[in-house]
Amino acid sequence: MSSLHVIVIGAGTGGMCLAHGLRRAGISVAVYERHRTRADGVYGYRVGIDPTGNHALKECLPQELFDIYTATCARAPAYLNVLTERRKTIASFPLPENHDPVDSERSVSRMTLRQVLLTGMEDVVHFGKAFTHYERNGDGTVTAFFADGTSATGDLLVAADGTGSRVRKQYLPHAEVKDTGVIAISAKVEVTPRTRALLPDEVFNGISLTFAPKGQFCIWHVMEFKWDRDGTVKHGIGGNDAELIGRWPGLLYDNTRDYINWGFSASADKFPPDVMDLRGEELRRVVLDMTPTWHPDMRELFEAADPGSCFPIAIRTSVPIAPWKSTNVTLLGDAVHTMTPGHGVGANTALRDAMLLRRHLVAVRDGARSLLDAVGAYEAEMIPYGFARVADSLAQNGTNGADPLHRPFVGRAVLAANRTFFRATNHIPALRRKFLDDLTAYRAADA
Ligand SMILES: Cc1cc2nc3c(=O)[nH]c(=O)nc-3n(C[C@H](O)[C@H](O)[C@H](O)COP(=O)(O)OP(=O)(O)OC[C@H]3O[C@@H](n4cnc5c(N)ncnc54)[C@H](O)[C@@H]3O)c2cc1C
Repeated sequence: MSSLHVIVIGAGTGGMCLAHGLRRAGISVAVYERHRTRADGVYGYRVGIDPTGNHALKECLPQELFDIYTATCARAPAYLNVLTERRKTIASFPLPENHDPVDSERSVSRMTLRQVLLTGMEDVVHFGKAFTHYERNGDGTVTAFFADGTSATGDLLVAADGTGSRVRKQYLPHAEVKDTGVIAISAKVEVTPRTRALLPDEVFNGISLTFAPKGQFCIWHVMEFKWDRDGTVKHGIGGNDAELIGRWPGLLYDNTRDYINWGFSASADKFPPDVMDLRGEELRRVVLDMTPTWHPDMRELFEAADPGSCFPIAIRTSVPIAPWKSTNVTLLGDAVHTMTPGHGVGANTALRDAMLLRRHLVAVRDGARSLLDAVGAYEAEMIPYGFARVADSLAQNGTNGADPLHRPFVGRAVLAANRTFFRATNHIPALRRKFLDDLTAYRAADA
């Protein structure tokens, strides 16, 4: 089927990885994105890419773009810390230093990753195309329709349009995505000598998790990049990275600069009822009002957040469904298996899907299998691992509002048990080793 043409809805993480992979394999592909420009519509700040995601990017991106991806990652965290709300360290695990481009954990700015993935794809991505519905044609093709009255026809329609997928709503109307009952507020704080001084060294150089009473949770990341406030490569960066970043056009669209990122969450009933409608300064106020007993330095960081960077997220999860009969419409990433950020693997799973689907479509290109066989083989593999990740993520870190952690009395006991677990793990070398091995193994399991 040498004339295979693939239509992808959504220029997000999974859709763009697939588009690169198909183009690299000589398969015709077009991506349709609802946003009007390449800088619109990125929510959230950091994404942790693990060996599974790196592997997919390595296989799908042209080599130079993969090198730009690794050069534009933030410095890797050196510790995983567990803190109390009074900023006492319960555990601090040094993370192994690993510079391998694939078998390592990478801290990536979402906006930077988006710009990397859009690089060199001007002829493939069509902006301002909000998908509305599709129709199947008598000749076996499928046509996607857009809100601006235009349409596009191809042999395969891939839904890569994220959690609210319009394609899924038409194709698998019984597939549900539901709120988990947890809300998060996230914001960025500029790194200045003052804000830097508010974080102990291990916290500044690591990823830190604060588990607090009432099921409150906060994650802290510090993102430091190889370029400065003016977008100029920082002094002392190695020649190769400096050259790659220097000539990468994507930086022109990317306003990412060094920042501290906090993400505060709790069960929805603990927030004001209108929290999802609040913005900026009001959200900052909500977090401050909910955390009167937190350490003053942590509260100062809540206060120091750039109001324009504050946004609320209702954490959502998909409800697993039984496999369906494969057709010339398929799905990847959040469009099919939205998961909570509990394990930080949603983007990695979307990337894995892209790599897998690409492999099966290469077999179609080569005449080794039919398109429907290829889609069937992709879905037979993707559905089980995708929904397994959904279940694992929901069970993690209190991202499910029904978790006992969020209940009034039992929550205290769960918090105490959690702290005892981390204290013991921190102090007993065998437990420490096992904890770190399990963490690494989970995140590398699919690479
Ligand atoms: C707070 C938070 C933290 C997270 N942290 C991590 C992490 O550390 N590691 C990790 O692996 N994952 C993480 N995730 C999950 C990750 O962000 C998602 O799983 C990932 O972005 C999914 O990629 P995708 O390509 O499926 O969808 P998206 O990246 O959401 O892309 C969907 C695209 O489709 C477009 N679109 C939507 N509707 C239409 C339409 N009708 N027509 C045309 N285009 C449309 C959108 O504009 C968007 O560009 C986190 C999620 C949250 C909420």
